[in-house]
Amino acid sequence: MANICLLLLGAPGVGKGTQAKLLMDSFGMCQISTGEILRKEIRNKSSLGEIAKKYINDGLLVPDEYVIKMIDNELCDRNIIFDGFPRTLEQAKALDKILAQKNKKLNIVLNIVLDKEKIVKRLSGRLTCSSCAKSYHVEYDKPSKEGICDLCSSALYQRADDNEESINKRLQEYENKTKPLVEFYKGKNILLDIDGDDEALNIFNNISKIINKEIESYA
Ligand code: AMP
Repeated sequence: MANICLLLLGAPGVGKGTQAKLLMDSFGMCQISTGEILRKEIRNKSSLGEIAKKYINDGLLVPDEYVIKMIDNELCDRNIIFDGFPRTLEQAKALDKILAQKNKKLNIVLNIVLDKEKIVKRLSGRLTCSSCAKSYHVEYDKPSKEGICDLCSSALYQRADDNEESINKRLQEYENKTKPLVEFYKGKNILLDIDGDDEALNIFNNISKIINKEIESYA
């Protein structure tokens, strides 16, 4: 039985979360989104949440020591999608070690690519569901009922870090700290580029083909 670990890589706003949700539904994969875990910690006012809040709202990465510690508890026995982790070389090396201890490894890294201009447009108009984290857009992906999630009927909100200043800082952090992972995974021969400038469902179809191929190679 294939045991796939997939990483969705790419700048903030390229659609990693949207694709992760679609993959969870279709392939029964579990999603590990460090951003969602950290936002939950903030809502619960935990000590980690209090630390993370400042970094997140300022558009900065939360220090590696906190984020790496979170991962161990999140691993499941099903196929896994890593969404937003790792984001630094140190995190990537730590993930390799954590997975090796569980006889797992990253099989595929999908690098979703999109122009900066389009990313800024997407993020500055993004609305997120407060419960299931599905995202919408105020102009080109509106929910059927204003302010309400189509999937779970919970309230939509604008993330505190989806403002112009934080968006620019997040993109800078991506360039400095996360982009080097592209070369890191290219070197391991597991990275594929995905065009992020398309409808979510078309991107999902492309990704599904890649995953099905990987699953078949284990059959
Ligand atoms: P995301 O929901 O993936 O866009 O993440 C939102 C914010 O959470 C990021 O801008 C970071 O401040 C923080 N964050 C999420 N994942 C990580 C990570 N792997 N390393 C450091 N900070 C992270």
